[in-house]
Amino acid sequence: MASQPLDIAQAQALVAGHCRLLPAELTQVDGALGLVLSEQVIASYDVPSSANSAMDGFAARAGDAGRTLKLIGESRAGQPAAISVGEGEAVRISTGAVMPDGADAVAPIEVAEDHGDTVTLLEELTGGRNVRLAGEDLRAGDAVLAPGRELGPAELGIAVAAGRAELQCVRRARVAVIATGDELREPGADLAPGELHNSNLTTIGALVRAAGADVVLTSHVGDDPAATERCFSEALDQADVIVCSGGVSVGPHDHVKGAFMELGVEERFWRVALRPGRPTWFGSRDGQLVFGLPGNPVSAMVTFLLFVAPALRAIQGRSPQQTASSTLGESIPRHPDRDECVRVRIEDGEAFATGPQGSHILSSMSLADALAVIPRGEGSLAAGSAIELLSLQP
Ligand code: AMP
Ligand code: MG
Repeated sequence: MASQPLDIAQAQALVAGHCRLLPAELTQVDGALGLVLSEQVIASYDVPSSANSAMDGFAARAGDAGRTLKLIGESRAGQPAAISVGEGEAVRISTGAVMPDGADAVAPIEVAEDHGDTVTLLEELTGGRNVRLAGEDLRAGDAVLAPGRELGPAELGIAVAAGRAELQCVRRARVAVIATGDELREPGADLAPGELHNSNLTTIGALVRAAGADVVLTSHVGDDPAATERCFSEALDQADVIVCSGGVSVGPHDHVKGAFMELGVEERFWRVALRPGRPTWFGSRDGQLVFGLPGNPVSAMVTFLLFVAPALRAIQGRSPQQTASSTLGESIPRHPDRDECVRVRIEDGEAFATGPQGSHILSSMSLADALAVIPRGEGSLAAGSAIELLSLQP
């Protein structure tokens, strides 16, 4: 295994090379937001199913302004009028209600005088006015959503309108989130000197869910080799992807790599020429992906966004994140041999560092709109330089 740190792109390519599309399963539409369709959706019906009114008003035959018509019934949403409209007649009609036979236009309430038994239409009524035709949105038999389509709110609505309650979709990734460290305490716990709250478990779990995946196991394990191996073994029994933070370095109390390798996970890379996030480990076992992220909270987030997020997208069938770019609003010092992900806010299209950039300073992450990738090199990257932005949304 290469002992030189990899470039970010090399490490990403290695991860991509081990990603396999997850199987599809039948999913309730209401649970399918963000999933990727793996079938073609054909409309079972015309939508709308019949010609209906676009306005609240009076359905009648086309004709001149000033006509007074006899009101012979009502067509309401879901309750069509069982009457036919003849010359000199009209039917009260609600938005979305079926057009009665014989009527070919709707005069809105606002341009009519309602006298109870009759109505006077104040404007000329042209044929087809305020009428929505059957099949204007979808036609029965039309392919309305293709395989590979990412399902947003509009796509889910179309699927329902087309007659579907379930859809065949690539299933969500099952992810185990693990934090290692003897010093970690659960949220809300009182702290003894040297202890800290386990924020990574929460942050990483949130990132996993934001990536559309399911967290199937959350675990905290101390810096003990046997306990670490037991915890990882349980995770490997359940998860497609394991994301572990801390304990990945080479200190005497870092057991992550050893435990995974004991369990048959093969090391694919170790260390990236990146700041923050150099001590990042990636392995795989059959189709399972295993990420050993550094423990510092910002390093864990940055390496999640760079390596785990694209993997979750790929195995769930989603397309890669669009790259974005910006311009530096101020000069930023460069690291001589590591590319740096700098937390930036974007103001008037220009990127400015949010504050101290230590890998433990989560507060400057929460102020950030994006990460700016500052390529390694001598000196500083000048204000006005073009930069690539990494989204904080997985
Ligand atoms: P490690 O990678 O285990 O050497 O940890 C590096 C630093 O990150 C140490 O200061 C840890 O206390 C801190 N750290 C490790 N895990 C977490 C966690 N789950 N939440 C917050 N900080 C952590
Ligand atoms: Mg540790």
